[in-house]
Amino acid sequence: MTATILELRRVCKGFERTIAAAELSLAVGRGEFFTFLGPSGSGKSTILRMIAGLERPDSGQILIDGRDVVRVPPWRRNLGMVFQQYALFPHMTVAQNVAYGLKSRGRGRREVERRVSEMLELVGLAGMQGRNATVLSGGEQQRVALARALAAEPTMLLLDEPLSALDEKIRRGMQTELKRIQRRTGTTFLYVTHDQEEALTMSDRIVVLNHGQAVQCDAPEAIYQRPRTRFTAEFFRGCNVLDGVVASAGAGRLRVRFGGVEATVDDGRAAAPGAKIGLAIRGENLHLGMAAASCPIRLAARLDEVVYRGTNIDYRLGLADGQSVVATSTRREPGENGGAVTVGFADAAVVLLDD
Ligand code: ADP
Repeated sequence: MTATILELRRVCKGFERTIAAAELSLAVGRGEFFTFLGPSGSGKSTILRMIAGLERPDSGQILIDGRDVVRVPPWRRNLGMVFQQYALFPHMTVAQNVAYGLKSRGRGRREVERRVSEMLELVGLAGMQGRNATVLSGGEQQRVALARALAAEPTMLLLDEPLSALDEKIRRGMQTELKRIQRRTGTTFLYVTHDQEEALTMSDRIVVLNHGQAVQCDAPEAIYQRPRTRFTAEFFRGCNVLDGVVASAGAGRLRVRFGGVEATVDDGRAAAPGAKIGLAIRGENLHLGMAAASCPIRLAARLDEVVYRGTNIDYRLGLADGQSVVATSTRREPGENGGAVTVGFADAAVVLLDD
């Protein structure tokens, strides 16, 4: 792990009716693309605003480069910010917008010009210096906002849902662009989004938030494949959450019963036989048709619904114990609505949840 650039220590922040940060502790490494992910109202923006200095925590510490900044005003924190609204100066050109922060820091004309073209080149707007900022498309305006924020070489760049106002295709393109720009500059990015795909695509690590609490903090693949809590599992599309019962336990292994079958899970935890346990299985790890036949665990299910989603097809299945799951396949599988099908999976597809 690289050196820590940001540390939150037991940060609390409450409003009249809600909690935006509950004893929140986390550390971000220098150069990381770190994402705060959670549903609307989970505290993401407030946490970012506290890091920026626009809100003050009720208690706890916020350390940037090892120094507690809770009492340091925003303009002394040397942070860049990009929001959903581009907030460009409408009466200024692209170059004037990008140069704004540099001029106010008293840099010379030559240096400012050089830095402006460097930044515009970085964000893919080379040669656009003279354009009026507001005649640009949404995607281009966001690039200008990004160039403006990065021009002053901030210690960290804070981005709050910066792509939400863009339409799907441009948003996807900008995801790749943002990641490229982050890699090229090596700047630490703190990114806020409610969009799981955006978080998975760009981040080095993601913290999942629920009512101001860090539910899980991990690399995208770990969060996606191995959610630790029911909340994280349910937050990601395509993950089935089921109730199981511990059938037997020993040597860090559990036999878990659900849907009329048992699976062995080898994650080192202990639990008493008979205990209830939550578990998660991703839809793409549940197989139907030919693929089910070669799986170590197979169970009988009823096909309740088939939903065509383009690349994937979702099969909603009723299990013997009354629970239901969705299996995802790229193929049209045999079976009719209401008919019997076999669903198969491997023991390793089963993830045990902490709550
Ligand atoms: P998110 O960014 O995850 O949508 P926010 O940080 O914006 O969440 O908000 C977290 C909670 O705090 C929400 O319930 C919101 O209504 C509340 N909140 C945010 N700012 C204020 C404020 N200035 N006054 C009162 N409540 C606020």
